[in-house]
Amino acid sequence: NKVSSSNFIKNIVVEDLKEGHVQEIVTRFPPEPNGYLHIGHAKSICLNFELADEFKGRTNLRFDDTNPVKEDTEYVESIKEDVRWLGFDWDDLRFASDYFEELYNRAVLLIRKGKAYVCDLTAEQIRETRGTLTQPGQDSPYRGRTVEENLDLFARMRAGEFKDGEKVLRAKIDMASPNINFRDPVLYRIAHAHHHRTGDAWCIYPMYDYAHPISDAIEGITHSICTLEFADHRPLYDWTIAECEMVDVPKQYEFARLNITNTVMSKRKLKALVDEGVVTGWDDPRMPTISGLRRKGYTPEAIRAFCREIGVAKANSTVDERMLEHFIREDLKLKALRTMAVLQPLKVVITNYPEGQVEMLEAENNAENEEMGTRQIPFSREIYIEQDDFMEDPPAKYFRLFPGNEVRLKHAYFITCQEVIKDADGNVIELRCTYDPATKSGSGFNARKVKGTIHWVEASQAVPADFRLYEPLITSEAEEEGKPFLECINPNNQQVLQGFVEPNMKDAKSHDKFQFFRHGYFNVDPKDSTGEKLVFNRIVSLKSSFDP
Ligand code: ATP
Ligand code: MG
Ligand code: MG
Repeated sequence: NKVSSSNFIKNIVVEDLKEGHVQEIVTRFPPEPNGYLHIGHAKSICLNFELADEFKGRTNLRFDDTNPVKEDTEYVESIKEDVRWLGFDWDDLRFASDYFEELYNRAVLLIRKGKAYVCDLTAEQIRETRGTLTQPGQDSPYRGRTVEENLDLFARMRAGEFKDGEKVLRAKIDMASPNINFRDPVLYRIAHAHHHRTGDAWCIYPMYDYAHPISDAIEGITHSICTLEFADHRPLYDWTIAECEMVDVPKQYEFARLNITNTVMSKRKLKALVDEGVVTGWDDPRMPTISGLRRKGYTPEAIRAFCREIGVAKANSTVDERMLEHFIREDLKLKALRTMAVLQPLKVVITNYPEGQVEMLEAENNAENEEMGTRQIPFSREIYIEQDDFMEDPPAKYFRLFPGNEVRLKHAYFITCQEVIKDADGNVIELRCTYDPATKSGSGFNARKVKGTIHWVEASQAVPADFRLYEPLITSEAEEEGKPFLECINPNNQQVLQGFVEPNMKDAKSHDKFQFFRHGYFNVDPKDSTGEKLVFNRIVSLKSSFDP
């Protein structure tokens, strides 16, 4: 494990340990199980786990499951899988719902102390009487209820006597506070809904601002790290810990959330893409979810290196998507087999090559990593090349195949285009070429040079494959125009091409990763590949103008 570079939270941790404010660092990653994790969550996961690891502390995985309507065990399981896949092991697995009884008891304590009351205003009335930044709020007419009355009503809320929305429990703080979060925030609401873990045991559920600090305190979390939009909630976090008389006192710290260009980073929107059938599921390779990135072919190493590089800041910013791509290229550069795939095949017949003969040629597996050795690839009279490696009327500086021109076939021979075969509509369907046996790759031939090198696959043994090429689902520009989000979908977000790969890849396994010469890095799709046909997802193309 590489040690992360310095950041402001790490500096606080170092200081807290040095000054003896804490004996051990305890962090938590607290997802709500209402969707799959996305690349933004990876930043929070890396930060929490790596920080604790570095100082020999602990990290809990805690599900913030206080909103039963949106939560599901499917999400719980996917989140566990994704955290593990990223390479992290939690110390304790917890659920906020483990603490429902204690949360309830602490709320009773607040009522006894005169710090909470049952309020009959509707959600809308509460919003309307909250005031604004420049105007104080108005006291609820129920603010003066006695402790006895509040204890009785809260018990009856729990017992199920009231309908959803009829009553809430509110903290009694200060309706004129300059911090709006202090204006008698709601602590509990009624929801007659089935909870994925507690079933129908509860019909009142705690709010995030109440459940989160107490859950942190119960677990002995020392550094509770969240994103910037919670900075204004910190005084309420501290108030809750203090008024509920928690023994352990966690502290909240805020960092900037991750934004990436052309990348949707909201569970609500990602869920809409799934529900509306824009994608095939949460793990569709086009999704910026951890499971989507994994299926596309990203590795945990690349994602962690990316998170390390972007660092932890106190100001929001947007990272260029090409930075994430840079890290997967870096990770696969020396690891992936470099083979040949033809995505849009055009048949080439080599007329002076003996009919029925197949020879084996040696090809290196990775030009930058000799240790990966070599493989044998067949060559014969019929091969496939890429359609766009041929032009009948090429512009200047086109160095690939055109009538009369000679090119190098990677790992094989020079060939010259002699004849173009077309169908009745004038489409090019085949080329007739000749090869020069003296030009065999590796033979040291240097009597003449050619400017173009193209890739190919021998036709009789070629393995059919689908290739999926991706573009962003939604571009940042389209989203900024203010149209409804589902109307901003990029219609070209996926292109599927049917072509061929070398025969030695016929037994490729799910998640095997290759660099296809000139096309980029591809991953064998774990769901759609069958015994008949391999499906490759393009992880990333070869080139990028970005160099961090
Ligand atoms: P979303 O807004 O996408 O629904 P969320 O914050 O509601 O995300 P949670 O499940 O509550 O989702 O998030 C768990 C943790 O991940 C929180 O601590 C949250 O701050 C962090 N997190 C979520 N999105 C990002 C992001 N884009 N960058 C960094 N951290 C994030
Ligand atoms: Mg949340
Ligand atoms: Mg959310």
